Amino acid sequence: MTATVRMLAGFLLAAAASAASAATAQEQPPAPEQGKTAVALVYSKAYQINLGGLERMHPFDIHKYSKIAQQLVKDGLATESDFLVPKELTREEILTVQSARFLDSLKDSATVAQYLEAPIAKRLPAVVIDRGMLRPFRYASGGTVAAARAALKHGVAINLGGGYHHAKPDRGEGFCIYADMPIAIRILQRERLIRRALVVDLDVHQGNGTIVCCHGDESVFTFSMHEAGIYPIPKEKGDRDIELAAGTGDEAYLRTLRDALPEVIRQSRPDIVLLQAGCDPLAGDPLANLAMTKEGIVARDALVIDACVARKIPVVMLLGGGYSREAWEVQHASIRRTLEKYAVVRRQEQPATKPGLKKFLGKKQK
Ligand SMILES: [Zn+2]
Repeated sequence: MTATVRMLAGFLLAAAASAASAATAQEQPPAPEQGKTAVALVYSKAYQINLGGLERMHPFDIHKYSKIAQQLVKDGLATESDFLVPKELTREEILTVQSARFLDSLKDSATVAQYLEAPIAKRLPAVVIDRGMLRPFRYASGGTVAAARAALKHGVAINLGGGYHHAKPDRGEGFCIYADMPIAIRILQRERLIRRALVVDLDVHQGNGTIVCCHGDESVFTFSMHEAGIYPIPKEKGDRDIELAAGTGDEAYLRTLRDALPEVIRQSRPDIVLLQAGCDPLAGDPLANLAMTKEGIVARDALVIDACVARKIPVVMLLGGGYSREAWEVQHASIRRTLEKYAVVRRQEQPATKPGLKKFLGKKQK
């Protein structure tokens, strides 16, 4: 990525620290019952970015989410009615982590274009950007909140979107606007559903935004494995950072993760784990230089999800980055593995006339 990362001003860090002062929850989260772990799928057609074709100028495959959803249905692993359709993130929810000043900045096209690294967006009216890009991000971020709630109930949840780990309290960057993971954690903490959270960020780029959002908050532990020497530069200091050299392949990657994860879980004592499962460590990704295979990425996600299930810790998988043409296939293979191992949460009770389902089917919304 080409973003220029600026040092944050002191007031921004103060804002982050203030946002980080979570409610002290007293109750234990409801742990999934043994042997009853199932996977909740979260997705809405409203995640789809649409700027009348201009969005194709960005390296991100904007159809990644819908391709995965459709393929899971084609595979017979889930039906359309099995998808939990999330609500759009509200202003109030965003303000649990990000500032009002930041939300105001989204009314300026040039600023949003900078956050999204999409210069073309400068030429569009703010209302078009809001409808075509920001609203889809609010839905996909709402999906992270819904998935976190579902994970507490079922053990595992997968949001077919989310993982916007470069978003900071006072600015977006690196194609990320809303800090969905810190927001989901904060909401669950305020509702006293969880006390502590662990973010396992395996996207090839460090989740600098998540780290800044959770700065000074001892209830959130950030663990990141990322490539050294690429965006973001400089890196933020998370609770546990592992830098990997360009060219790192499956064996070294998986060995490093296998060695680090048990200690990270022990140290962080999480009530929930948020896995940012970006698939940009894949060989050939245009924005990174690692050399993992599709099978390696599937094994990586399995390692984290199975480790959480074995310890009865609810786990949420988010899709994060991944910019090559095969990105959607790799993430589909990973989700498929999880669904085959634990089975999907069935939602036949959701009638086809519900507005949420219409969203998934792509019917026009009022
Ligand atoms: Zn990335």
